[in-house]
Amino acid sequence: MKIVETFAAVRSEVAGASAALVPTMGFLHEGHMSLLELAKGLQGPVVMSLFVNPLQFDRSVDLERYPRDLARDAEIAAAAGVDLLFAPTVEEMYPSSPRTRVRVDSVSDGMEGEHRPGHFEGVATVVAKLFAGVRPDAAVFGRKDAQQLAVVRRMTADLSFPVEIIGAPTVRAPDGLAVSSRNVFIAEDDRAAALGLSSGLFAAAEAVVAGERSAVRLESLVRDRLADAEVEYVTLADAFEAEPIDTLDREAFLAVAARVGDVRLIDNIVMWPDGSTDTGVTLEGPSILRRA
Ligand code: AMP
Repeated sequence: MKIVETFAAVRSEVAGASAALVPTMGFLHEGHMSLLELAKGLQGPVVMSLFVNPLQFDRSVDLERYPRDLARDAEIAAAAGVDLLFAPTVEEMYPSSPRTRVRVDSVSDGMEGEHRPGHFEGVATVVAKLFAGVRPDAAVFGRKDAQQLAVVRRMTADLSFPVEIIGAPTVRAPDGLAVSSRNVFIAEDDRAAALGLSSGLFAAAEAVVAGERSAVRLESLVRDRLADAEVEYVTLADAFEAEPIDTLDREAFLAVAARVGDVRLIDNIVMWPDGSTDTGVTLEGPSILRRA
């Protein structure tokens, strides 16, 4: 595996082949690996980008403390079959403060967009830059960030990027917690409270299988498990518009964001009006993050 720092180097390595891009902020874990597995099933070389994007952090403390370890990530990525690791500096990504930003109306406004002002503008801008600079044929994003996936899909369509967007299932630790780089900050004493997110979502998924379609009732099943967390939102949203809906009458996701201690966590499950749900995939052993 080669590690490169510039867009020009990526393009010269890929040399016009049909590349699959896996964008990440690094501190790799099994969630990223599942994106990678999907990318490896596509044509051509797999490019993984690793960039902690300052533009998408609404709080500078979060940006400063975001976990970073390039040597660790390079080792994991190479072992997992990444062909090219693109780890640009901030100067490469933003040679000067960008005056051009990508804003996806409406899809960005609720949930994460409401609680993290400017977040999706930062995401859409950096993904657009990655698409323009790397020129992949496909890019893989996790459904763990369901609203982000909706924003990226819409941005790609609206700007006519010739990139196929692929969604990958949410990877969970054996206890149900969605794997996230931020999990390394969850205090041992807070783990039980953190599990409220996934256990609430699982309860709601069971209710959907049993016939429940009301957003209010599904949302309250999640809130019931979050007595020990500071809930920001629990919302049933259209899977593509990311707008709240009252009834599960189309493909949707039930999303939750909550603070446990000083860690902000998000999770969701995808659900359909026929009563099917996608709660993600569960690891058989502890996440590599726990041992990091
Ligand atoms: P991040 O490094 O957190 O920005 O995530 C990079 C990509 O990995 C995004 O597309 C995320 O949605 C995806 N991702 C993060 N955690 C998970 C997970 N537990 N399961 C599946 N995908 C994930």
